[in-house]
Amino acid sequence: MNRSVCYYSHMLQRSNLALFFRSVFSILILSCIGTGCGDRSDALSGSNATASPNANGKITVLATTRMVADVVANVVGEHANVITLIPAGADPHLWTPTRSDILQLLEADALFMNGLGLEGRAGEAFSRVSNSGRPVCVITGGIPEKDLLQDPSNTAHPDPHVWMDPQLWGTTAHQVAEALATLDPAHAAEFKANATKYAAEANALVEAITADLANISPSNRVLVSSHDAFGYFGKRFNFEVRGIQGISTESEASVGDIERLVAEISERKIPTVFVETTVSDRTIRAVVDGCAARDHTIKIGDALYSDSMGAPGTPGGTWVGMIKHNARSIGNGLGGNS
Ligand SMILES: [Zn+2]
Repeated sequence: MNRSVCYYSHMLQRSNLALFFRSVFSILILSCIGTGCGDRSDALSGSNATASPNANGKITVLATTRMVADVVANVVGEHANVITLIPAGADPHLWTPTRSDILQLLEADALFMNGLGLEGRAGEAFSRVSNSGRPVCVITGGIPEKDLLQDPSNTAHPDPHVWMDPQLWGTTAHQVAEALATLDPAHAAEFKANATKYAAEANALVEAITADLANISPSNRVLVSSHDAFGYFGKRFNFEVRGIQGISTESEASVGDIERLVAEISERKIPTVFVETTVSDRTIRAVVDGCAARDHTIKIGDALYSDSMGAPGTPGGTWVGMIKHNARSIGNGLGGNS
């Protein structure tokens, strides 16, 4: 089944939309197969694909998360105003657009989103954007199914945290370049070149992090954090991953989940657990207390950027910066070079 259909069907089930919107959206999805950004109808595309520059000669595009905005800004260069909808530090799983967000959505030339269920509560707003004829590009749409991790607690869509694997995230730049080329054909070659550069930098990041974390012993290669955001990082850099909450922060950890994790950490003598900048540290602290009760002292490492980058202008304020920060924190906590 087409991934975008799965994604939007799921998104609509989880939001409180009237049946009307479900019907309209289904029609939009079906009418857009084979068009827009990407090869596999991973985007909804309206009829007015080519955009009109505004007063400063640039088109305006929106990105849901700052990681998505990072790719878009790097690929588009100086040819668009890129606006991020979800603020720094906010949790995209729980984000719902405000009234002013919706107005921005309806005025922008295009919307770029992560997809895979990440922006799960934004269904109604995104349906309005599609309904207004503007292109909506799901930038993960070009990633092969085989490279996506499944969410064991939810079969409706895969794990959305693709930005944690630099190699996969780098490939999204090509999807973005294709979409931008439709909006602004005059600069298509530049977008393509920028995307190639972004992907190459992402691949270089994989090599650097692999080397930096090579000294972590096999027994310490367990990454425990607040929620299951690091599956792709773990797969790429050879860590087992334990998130206390599930893939989405909408799910709550049970007492049983925490007890099982405490038992495993204590038994395996894992030295460090990690809090995340966008998620409450309540459950991680419960794990630390539980380990202490079993005479296993565990440290809390530097806070990891999971679903949001650092504030603009800080070292973690770019996608590369956030991934480097995470790798350094994990290396410090578990015993690598970085
Ligand atoms: Zn998440």
